[in-house]
Amino acid sequence: MPPSPEPASNLAARLADVDARIAAAAAAAGREPSEITRIVVTKFHPASVVRELYGLGVRDVGENRQQEFSVKAAELEALRDVRWHFIGQAQTNKARAIRAAASMVHSVDRSRLADALDAAAPADAQQLDVLLQVNLTDDPGRGGVHAADLERLATHVAGLPTLRVRGIMAVAPLDVPPAQAFARLPGLSDTVRGVVPDATWISAGMTADFAEAIAVGATHLRIGSAITGPRPERG
Ligand SMILES: *Cc1c(COP(=O)(O)O)cnc(C)c1O
Repeated sequence: MPPSPEPASNLAARLADVDARIAAAAAAAGREPSEITRIVVTKFHPASVVRELYGLGVRDVGENRQQEFSVKAAELEALRDVRWHFIGQAQTNKARAIRAAASMVHSVDRSRLADALDAAAPADAQQLDVLLQVNLTDDPGRGGVHAADLERLATHVAGLPTLRVRGIMAVAPLDVPPAQAFARLPGLSDTVRGVVPDATWISAGMTADFAEAIAVGATHLRIGSAITGPRPERG
């Protein structure tokens, strides 16, 4: 028999399992699950998986590579109420394509990218929700603004008319326990709120560390493989 695609029932079971774990982590932290948005990261998976997730009630979907994202969003255009979250490192020359398809960009980490996203706004554009990605490592290759430059970036982006700063985003480093790395997030969030008082969102937490992220106040979780299963081989 040829290998069959992932049965939808597995997807449903894993989604339910993750949601139960989110609820448990929220309860342990004295938080309401309703204040936490669970984004399903579907990178490397075909549009059909997003369609199945949609059938299971998923409306927040995350993608990290512009080209794959644009193709998938176009293919699924009929699913009007999907909110596409762009979570990957973005090149400025892709800003127009990203803006055209994204409801929210989590990975604004430099002024030039913010300027490009702002310039890419159509004439009648609503403001685009953006998060400022903070680098929790000392490796500039990992993406994200250095914490010392966060306030300056927040001030810059807050001045761009078509972007709305909603908060911060971070990825846990590989070499530090996530709880320890994420302990910095409330302070970094305060830094941004000093510039934009209602920018309260914190996007943090992936398959391996979403409970730790919930414990420090994450409002948006970006969960891939725990829900979708292992990612297919990259073509
Ligand atoms: C892939 C990815 C995720 C999801 O990762 P999993 O470990 O599969 O949950 C979250 N955030 C970003 C930025 C990603 O690239």
